[in-house]
Amino acid sequence: MEKKNIVLYAPPAAGKGTQCELLVQNYGYEVISIGQVLRNARNPETEIGRIIIETQDKGILTPDDIVAKALQEELKKYENKSIVVEGYPRNIDQAKLLDTILDNYIVINLDINREIAMKRTLGRVNCSECKKIYNVYFPEMNSKVEGICDECGGTLESRSDDNENSFNVRFDVYEENAPAIIEFYKDKGILYVVDSSISKEHTSNQVEKILSEGIVND
Ligand SMILES: [Zn+2]
Repeated sequence: MEKKNIVLYAPPAAGKGTQCELLVQNYGYEVISIGQVLRNARNPETEIGRIIIETQDKGILTPDDIVAKALQEELKKYENKSIVVEGYPRNIDQAKLLDTILDNYIVINLDINREIAMKRTLGRVNCSECKKIYNVYFPEMNSKVEGICDECGGTLESRSDDNENSFNVRFDVYEENAPAIIEFYKDKGILYVVDSSISKEHTSNQVEKILSEGIVND
């Protein structure tokens, strides 16, 4: 399949970060995250930049049309490159705006149910020494001795910023907005859905299939 831009659309803990890394390493994509776009656009010399500074500093949401303009500016830096847009859109209005500024793209939706996503996020522990990752909720990802790293004997610690409540809030936002966004992309015929609940390897294989053959079985 001809190389296209990608919108990676997924709920929390579906493995967006891992897939972004693979797209960069294996396919030469450039990742654009909306957080970075807004940081780059914070410029007191421009009208858009001033609005972004003002809204962010007040802790209120930057209006969609301003975010879209900032993104449009940022995209100019990536002409002739293939990009992955990550963490955007978050609602149907943003999806429609993005559609007017991004050319030649497909959408990959990493689908995962709430329970598995929550266990992946909240059960994750890292070795404080060698950083190896374990998960207390998945037997195949447990350490042999509770709280101790198999590899180096270091202590395992949770580094999640999430608790069950904050995780659910983030997942609720996704679930409220996803049906309209997914419908929009399906109607355009550019949506590919990957079942992201099976394993990291499965997700990566399916993404590769989409890129090489334009098909997926999930
Ligand atoms: Zn370790």
